[in-house]
Amino acid sequence: MIDTNQFGKMPDGQVVDSYILTNKNGMSVEILTLGAIIRSWTLATDPNVDIVLGFDSVDDYLSDQSYLGRTVGRYANRIEKGLFKIAEKQYSVSTNLQGNCLHGGVDGFHNRIWSVSNLLERPDPSITLSLISEDGDQGFPGTLTVDVIFTLDQEDRLTIEYRGLCNQDTVFNPTQHSYFNLAGHDSGGIFDQQITLSANFYTPADENAIPTGEIRSVDNTAFDLRQPTPFGKAIKQQDEEIKAASGLDHNWCVDGFSQDQQKLQLVAQVTEPKSGRTLVTETTMPGAQIYTGNFLGENTLGKNNTKYAAYHGFCIESQFYPNSPNQAAFPSATLLANTPFVSRTSYQVKQKSQQ
Ligand code: BGC
Repeated sequence: MIDTNQFGKMPDGQVVDSYILTNKNGMSVEILTLGAIIRSWTLATDPNVDIVLGFDSVDDYLSDQSYLGRTVGRYANRIEKGLFKIAEKQYSVSTNLQGNCLHGGVDGFHNRIWSVSNLLERPDPSITLSLISEDGDQGFPGTLTVDVIFTLDQEDRLTIEYRGLCNQDTVFNPTQHSYFNLAGHDSGGIFDQQITLSANFYTPADENAIPTGEIRSVDNTAFDLRQPTPFGKAIKQQDEEIKAASGLDHNWCVDGFSQDQQKLQLVAQVTEPKSGRTLVTETTMPGAQIYTGNFLGENTLGKNNTKYAAYHGFCIESQFYPNSPNQAAFPSATLLANTPFVSRTSYQVKQKSQQ
């Protein structure tokens, strides 16, 4: 089932719509045409629990600096100094954090109005949101057509498929920036929730979170999260990189990734111990930024006047490694002209009884 409502209006009068996808189990995921945002995600078993952080108005989304629930592009995460080359041609893109390009620059995809190009009720409710990013948008080359397909299946899995097609060589690295809190968006810190990563390697980074280029084994490091680890423990580790980021805000390399296979690989499982609820994330992408909401503003007023603060949500952002356009040894984020891009990332909620 899909329900549609008007969510609000942009300052110029454009309408922002909300689409609620509900599966046969009664799980609902709400998507906005603003920013292709996931605004809410409610469970059939505990209808009062909403597992993603979000806002109640368009204005709140427009003033948000934390990318709550956003679809991010063209390039999620960082490009150093906003500079890169494709085939010896130099490009300079919008910089918005410490002189680097973060999440596509000042006016990335996250505040655009997306158009609804397809709605499917059956067998699984699904919505396709589309956008045209013109040649030179934020400095990126080529006119890029983007489709993001959200499908909620009967196994309580939301699969997000990203498609892109550009008329020139460009770089493309879309992601989802939902802040999850498996005890509910209004339940405070995520410290007790336990993360397990299927990642034997990570990409060490400098003080501005730009990877050094090394792909390092997690063995004997604070980045070894291959066994269930409470976020509270993971963020307090005595490690210079974790201290510099005030918590987790790092890229791990997804085990089993293969550029030509397009196979979903398990990357992360997070369990909330009281309810036993687990979020399983799989992706076809090579990396994932695990971010513990370290910089969520103290006075962020979210849905139902809930005060959000640092560590109230975690993000699992599937991606090419940060700054890949400047690291030839990393999997390539270059999208060649007239060549279709496809990637998929899925987030599945499992209740205790199903595990
Ligand atoms: C980045 C953080 C940033 C956050 C919100 C994450 O993907 O890695 O450094 O603060 O997004 O913008």
